[in-house]
Amino acid sequence: QFSEIPLQPKDAAFSLIEAFHADPFPQKVDLCPGFYRDENAKPWILPSVALAKQRLQADPSEAHHEHLPMQGHPKLLSGARELVFGRDVELQRIASIQTVSGTGANHFAAQLLSEVIKPKNVWISAPSWINHTEIWENVNDSINKRFYPYYRKEDQSLDFTGMVDTLSSQSRPGDVVVLHACAHNPSGLDLSVEQWKTVASVCVEKKLFPLFDSAYQGFATGDLEKDAWAIRYFYGLSHLEFAVAQSFSKNFGIYGERIGALHLVVNSAEAAQRTLGRLLRLQRAQITSPPSYGAKIVATILSDEELFKQWLKDLDHMSGRIKQMRKRLYDELKKRDTPGSWDHLLVEVTWFSSNLLLCHPSC
Ligand code: PMP
Repeated sequence: QFSEIPLQPKDAAFSLIEAFHADPFPQKVDLCPGFYRDENAKPWILPSVALAKQRLQADPSEAHHEHLPMQGHPKLLSGARELVFGRDVELQRIASIQTVSGTGANHFAAQLLSEVIKPKNVWISAPSWINHTEIWENVNDSINKRFYPYYRKEDQSLDFTGMVDTLSSQSRPGDVVVLHACAHNPSGLDLSVEQWKTVASVCVEKKLFPLFDSAYQGFATGDLEKDAWAIRYFYGLSHLEFAVAQSFSKNFGIYGERIGALHLVVNSAEAAQRTLGRLLRLQRAQITSPPSYGAKIVATILSDEELFKQWLKDLDHMSGRIKQMRKRLYDELKKRDTPGSWDHLLVEVTWFSSNLLLCHPSC
């Protein structure tokens, strides 16, 4: 039977990275979005991460390779919740679990929601992170993958009217809608505060289940609060249930450590307990306990005032440098009278750009 397995297409993003590494041209430039690089095009270890690693190394109580609890590192989970929802939230309403990075959080969300909500459709932005479709297809191929307009090629702008019209007219109660909390991948175009409010009303009116993908908090604007605004607004709408798939890959630069979390905001403390119970069972069957080393790094930074301050500086450094590079690119293109309009380079955030990179799927 193995010889009958259909040939699978290669992963577009990872094939591009392989092709880049294989290319012997000395002046090659890596334009694959997905990993922050320093001035010398090398991976950057955040100073806050370097300090946390030193502390862990020097602490005899951390010098072991034991399992984390099934739910995850307790300080990572409490820090993760505070980052997403802020202080002063009703934690009893939230079920959280540490996941294998943002990908694992999206996967768990797809698995749990297809089991509990049983959506007929999952709505994904067109375009979106390539893995959204892939994950839902692999978890449950009987749920329809539907696409709401998001990016308009003609003028490189957000198609907000298309998004709202499609969701309002074509979705069904109980459908899941995947929303990028900030730094929409791959367009780099985010909704304004007013636009988020409209999307929230559509979700309430149409009884949709929002699933936020938050892979760039603090990395998008350098401001943790701003990048979590939409999620916190949705949280403030009483009785709206939703999920947040959180990744720490980019904002801590710990891509290979695979650290993330999934949060389910539900209507009661009892529902949260039941949800957590189900998530723990899924965790046990799939990975038993989540990755430990990266969780200790993030937990150390989030629970220490001095390291946290350093981390804020690191976020500011990364997002600020990306902004400067975008401006440089814009200036150089303009200087050369390069045909086309390049203004969008100054509006979009992070390393994403609609017409430059739309053809490059990101990791
Ligand atoms: N969601 C989005 C929108 C992403 O862009 C990414 C990474 N590119 C992820 C989730 C997941 O990343 P990871 O699994 O590396 O945390």
